[in-house]
Amino acid sequence: MSFLSVDQDLARDSYYAATAPREIRFAALDGEVQTDVVVVGGGLAGLSAAIELADRGRRVVLLEARQVAWGASGRNGGQAIAGLACDQSVVEQQLGKEPARTVWDMTLEALDLIAQRCQRFGIDCDWQPGYMGLAVNARKAAELRLWQEHMHHSYGYQTTWIAPQEMGGWIASPRFHSGIHDARSGHLHPLKYSLGLARAAQRLGVRIHEDSPVTGLQTGARPRVHTARGAVLAEQVLLAGNVYLQGLAPQIESRIMPVGTYVVCSEPLDPALCAALIPSRSAVCDTNFVLDYFRPTADHRMLYGGRVSYSTATPRNLVASMRKRMARTFPQLAGCRIDHAWGGFVDISMNRAPDFGRLRKDGAQQAPRDRSYSVRSHHANVYYLQGFSGHGLALTGLAGKLVAEAMTGDAARFDVFARLQHRPFPGGAWLRTPALVLGMAYYRMRDAL
Ligand SMILES: Cc1cc2nc3c(=O)[nH]c(=O)nc-3n(C[C@H](O)[C@H](O)[C@H](O)COP(=O)(O)OP(=O)(O)OC[C@H]3O[C@@H](n4cnc5c(N)ncnc54)[C@H](O)[C@@H]3O)c2cc1C
Repeated sequence: MSFLSVDQDLARDSYYAATAPREIRFAALDGEVQTDVVVVGGGLAGLSAAIELADRGRRVVLLEARQVAWGASGRNGGQAIAGLACDQSVVEQQLGKEPARTVWDMTLEALDLIAQRCQRFGIDCDWQPGYMGLAVNARKAAELRLWQEHMHHSYGYQTTWIAPQEMGGWIASPRFHSGIHDARSGHLHPLKYSLGLARAAQRLGVRIHEDSPVTGLQTGARPRVHTARGAVLAEQVLLAGNVYLQGLAPQIESRIMPVGTYVVCSEPLDPALCAALIPSRSAVCDTNFVLDYFRPTADHRMLYGGRVSYSTATPRNLVASMRKRMARTFPQLAGCRIDHAWGGFVDISMNRAPDFGRLRKDGAQQAPRDRSYSVRSHHANVYYLQGFSGHGLALTGLAGKLVAEAMTGDAARFDVFARLQHRPFPGGAWLRTPALVLGMAYYRMRDAL
């Protein structure tokens, strides 16, 4: 089965699609149009950039291969969490302490941006504050405690420590040793949020075309993108296609790898039982490398994510194995019905840091180590946002804002991220997988310790 067919299959039965009907559809691109900016990809990154560019007076055409928020943005775990997928130490080592602080602060701005947009555009997406990171054993708890102290001392970021004897008040599960509660992060219904942004973009004048896969990118002074039935000639291009670009820009696609992750959603629970499981109604992640992530929904279901696939093949017995995972955390839910099961792909970068940058007019990637990087940014008119590594629900919003700033002349904040170094996965599309599977075996072993 091809990657796109696997993905299509995984999208069929999501709780989100069942609870957020698509009231608007956008016609496919037909014919040739000219615009200021063409955005490839109608996920949260592309929609956010389109809104910010329209706010800055740019004419924007957004091309989406399938439907807006079809990809990760409409199917994720719904957890909007401060920080990046990688530890802050990766950013500190690469950029130094001050820029790392800037990056951290921007991840908090990304959370604020969600609240601002919900208010500005009247989006009701079941926002619920609160997130817990929970350690499954004493060794992981010690690591988490060190992280918490570091974040407090170096970044002034406050979280509440949950000691072993307090765990019972936070979660009705035998699995966890101790953890942190973060009041600033939270969770939401990502498809309601994404569709709200699509409506907002449309109101701001963005021309959205669904069912319009971009099959060719012609770089140059005036780049041009092609679809089956049309073309867009623009001043600038933004590639925001996650793992779905399918060879449009191989020079950046080799730097990310599609990793499958899976979610189930229970039947509606007795509200009292649901409240007893996680009294604060927070989202939760455990601290394992292959982590479980879960949260109660607004209608009192348990939405439970976990497992990964590095081969892109959907694990066999997905529902049964996910139910087992959920019951390991909440034995109270062992007999409950699973109403929905789905999955999707995250764009993992080698170091799990986000990968933002530009392609030069000749199509080559502009090197972030170049001292005159920002000054020479006028040589580049194709921008890209990728590598959110499973932690993009909030960060995509900010990424869209930063790239819009850069495309309209102020690249200072975008370039903080663009200076992060990335290595391609060795061996290209096919060899990426075995290398990662080997790496994963090591981390699975560590999870078990
Ligand atoms: C199951 C799952 C659970 C997750 N859980 C969380 C979570 O709890 N918290 C969190 O922070 N993050 C989570 N993530 C990650 C998060 O969802 C992503 O980081 C984020 O949504 C990425 O947004 P995006 O816009 O970059 O990509 P997407 O939402 O995937 O959008 C990319 C879009 O581009 C389109 N596209 C690609 N190529 C082309 C082309 N050539 N022409 C036209 N269109 C094209 C695609 O069709 C797609 O719609 C999860 C992801 C998954 C899959």
